[in-house]
Amino acid sequence: MNSERILSSSSFNLLKSLILVVDDDRAVRMQLRHWLEAEGYRVVEAADGAACLSAYEQEHPDLVLLDIILPDQDGLECCKQIQRMSGGSYTPILMMTGCEDEASINRAFAWGAMDYIVKPIAWSILRHRLRRLLQDSRRNRNLETENQQLMRLATLDSLTQIPNRRRFDEHLDAMWRQMVREGGLISMVIGDVDFFKAYNDTYGHPSGDQCLQTIAKALSRCCHRPLDLVARYGGEEFGIILPQTDLKGALNLTASMKVAIEALQLPHRESLVDDFVTMSFGAAAVRPSVNMWSGLLLEATDELLYKAKAAGRKQTCGIEI
Ligand code: GH3
Ligand code: MG
Ligand code: MG
Repeated sequence: MNSERILSSSSFNLLKSLILVVDDDRAVRMQLRHWLEAEGYRVVEAADGAACLSAYEQEHPDLVLLDIILPDQDGLECCKQIQRMSGGSYTPILMMTGCEDEASINRAFAWGAMDYIVKPIAWSILRHRLRRLLQDSRRNRNLETENQQLMRLATLDSLTQIPNRRRFDEHLDAMWRQMVREGGLISMVIGDVDFFKAYNDTYGHPSGDQCLQTIAKALSRCCHRPLDLVARYGGEEFGIILPQTDLKGALNLTASMKVAIEALQLPHRESLVDDFVTMSFGAAAVRPSVNMWSGLLLEATDELLYKAKAAGRKQTCGIEI
């Protein structure tokens, strides 16, 4: 009983699918339209390759039923072109062929067709092939979307919704290699909230969480270049990667971050340096070369942050390596 209900509801969804029927023979198109619409599908028609490609672009069909011989171009060439169009690699193409010779069928599969059917078409066969192809393609699309969401989640910090440490490490590695190739400078900044343990102790952990979310937004707003990255590096530490940036540029940016955090005026009555939340920063710049290791930049930046803390907090220490 249950499985019947599941089957019929998933079939119902599939039957709303849009099928692009491509054949120069009007009678074939009419017959297919008749069968498909009676089954509940929506149909759009094209009589040649050019019309097929433009209908594909405009209508984004869920499946293409494509004749292997078209008046203006080879149906297989048309199949290849659909694959290259947006979403084309996900759209199943079912070739209709008059000849079941091995060479044509091999070519059809090699050029991206997912299945074929021999003319004259037996509807009793076609309807099952259509349903299976549509089900598979819907499943693949869902999997792809889920994968993308998982990838995004794996590199995002759940509290602050900015990139996490893993993304930071990946970006550092990629930018380091790019700077080796381009001979450019790369800077790194690590910012740490001052007296944050005292903040939690005074205002409670949930308020501490909120404070980190506000800080993450403020820091991210300060970086504008597409390859800059602001990440949550650890508990109350934020890491910033700045490709093609010298120490002067990194210190300018750090100054604007410091101002942005202090402008938030988040009360912190137990801080020993201010009445509001402040941060300390370490900044370092280097021109990477083949024999250098990116960990060097990380170590140097961390050491400078420690210096800024030791020198009294609410300040920045920077160096060009
Ligand atoms: P300093 O000025 O030397 O940086 O002192 P600090 O108190 O900020 O540094 P410390 O390393 O002693 O304490 C860091 C605190 O950050 C302790 C920890 O509980 C808090 N923290 C780390 N992650 C989170 C988080 O996700 N949420 C909250 N609310 N607190 C966090
Ligand atoms: Mg701290
Ligand atoms: Mg810390």
